[in-house]
Amino acid sequence: MSNRILIVEDEEAIARFVELELRHEGYEVGKAADGRTGLEQALHGGYDLVLLDIMLPELSGLEVIRRLRRESSVPVIMLTARDTVMDKVSGLDMGADDYITKPFAIEELLARIRTALRKRPAAAPSNLLTCGGLAMDAARHTVTYEGHPIDLTSREFDVLKLLLENQQIVLSRETFLTKVWGYDYMGETNVVDVYIRYLRSKIDDAFGCSLIHTVRGVGYVLREG
Ligand code: CA
Repeated sequence: MSNRILIVEDEEAIARFVELELRHEGYEVGKAADGRTGLEQALHGGYDLVLLDIMLPELSGLEVIRRLRRESSVPVIMLTARDTVMDKVSGLDMGADDYITKPFAIEELLARIRTALRKRPAAAPSNLLTCGGLAMDAARHTVTYEGHPIDLTSREFDVLKLLLENQQIVLSRETFLTKVWGYDYMGETNVVDVYIRYLRSKIDDAFGCSLIHTVRGVGYVLREG
């Protein structure tokens, strides 16, 4: 599974250039153009590393790293526009792993990224299940659609996980009941339909995609299109 990198950078030309180079190196890439979105995605997007500009709209990069470090130890490389000692010191004080001064040579950035990814503390192994733009990190208990976090209850999460683990395969209501609710479940079998409806509204309807399909008289299947 390739590493996922988030670029938080409001200068579109730089963000685009770095994105293309990283994709070329085989990384998966997400982007955010302001500090608030960047913080949200860094916290919930299931990324392995964050490239964080300091001068950002909404929230500065320094404020993003300060808030991020309350909850997450994801490696962060700060992008500093000026070679000012203050920015570097502040960024590192607040928990950034490294910094690089703009303009930088892409080879140097790639080397810093490889180093930061190697130093990453041993976390629970990422177990990413994907279908179209949908991604579930079972270890971190996060679900995103094209990088946008989706809030699910724990039951919704379990139903979706079963669908993702068996995509292209039609699952009957009984299968859901057995695997998600347990053998001793005595309630209504239409509880499955109810949870499928919740998931559709949070995924298919919310993002305008078509992933969860009904197969009449049989059950449900997760697949693209
Ligand atoms: Ca900037």
